[in-house]
Amino acid sequence: MTPRPFRPDPPQTLRPWAECPDAALAGLRGVLTDIDDTLTRDGQIEPAALAGLQRLAAAGLPVIAVTGRPAGWSRAFALAWPVRAIVAENGALMWRRRSAQKAAIEYADPLPVRQANAERLATCARAVLAEVPGTALARDSAGRITDIAIDHSEFAHLPPERIAQVVALMQAQGLTASVSSIHINGWIGAHHKFSGACWAVRQVLGGELRPAEWLYVGDSSNDQVMFERLPLSVGVANIARFVPLLTHLPTYVTRAERGAGFAEVAKKILAARPG
Ligand SMILES: [Mg+2]
Repeated sequence: MTPRPFRPDPPQTLRPWAECPDAALAGLRGVLTDIDDTLTRDGQIEPAALAGLQRLAAAGLPVIAVTGRPAGWSRAFALAWPVRAIVAENGALMWRRRSAQKAAIEYADPLPVRQANAERLATCARAVLAEVPGTALARDSAGRITDIAIDHSEFAHLPPERIAQVVALMQAQGLTASVSSIHINGWIGAHHKFSGACWAVRQVLGGELRPAEWLYVGDSSNDQVMFERLPLSVGVANIARFVPLLTHLPTYVTRAERGAGFAEVAKKILAARPG
C-alpha cells in the first residue's frame, strides 16, 4: 500500500456567506443554531432573527437551537419560538415542543448519573469561586441541572487570563470546560453541542444527522465542535471577536452581526430551495 501524500490542512479563511452556492443548500434538511449573540443581543432575541425562524418554520424547514444555557432558562423559549427543540446545557438535555403550551424535557444521562455528578460540580464551583479572583456564578445558575457556569461577559467581566484559569481549574477537577460568548461552562461527561444535536435530530425527526444536510449558525468558542463537524457552518459577523481564539472556524461568515446575520442565513437558504 502506498502511503497517502501529505497534504497540509487548507488555510482557514472565512468566506462570505453570499458565496455559498445555492446547490449546497438545496438538499438541506434543517437548521441548527446557537442562541446567545447569534439570535440575541443582550439576552433578547432580535426581531430579524425571530422573523427568520418564522420563515424557516413556514417553509417546513425544522430549526433546532443548541445552547450552553440552562434548562430553566431555555424552557420558555422552546414554547415561544418556532423551533422544534432547544438542546441546552451543551448537549446534556433538551426541551421538545409537544403542543402550543407544553414542552417536555429529556436528558442524555439517566437520573443516578446526574445525581452523582451534581455533588462534584458543586465542589468544583466552590473551588473556582475561592481560587480565581473576580469570579461569580452565572445569574442563570438556578436553572442549571447538569453543569456549572461562571459569568465572563454577561453581567461580569473576566479578563482572558482569568477565563483560562477557570478553564484549567475545571479541567483539573475532571470537568469538560467550554467558553461561550458569555459564560465558562463546566460539566461531567463527553457530551457537547454536536452530540446533543445528533441526539435531538434522532429524537425529534428520526434518523441520523447527516452532516451535509444540516447547517449550523454560531458565534463563539463553544460552537467550534459544530463548525468542525458540519461543512455548512456559518458565523454571524460578531464571530470576529473570537476568531483569534478558535481552532475551527465556520466555513462562511455573514455581513451582519447577531440576529440580522441569522436573518441573512435564513433568507439565502429559503431563496435556494427548489420550487
Ligand atoms: Mg453564542
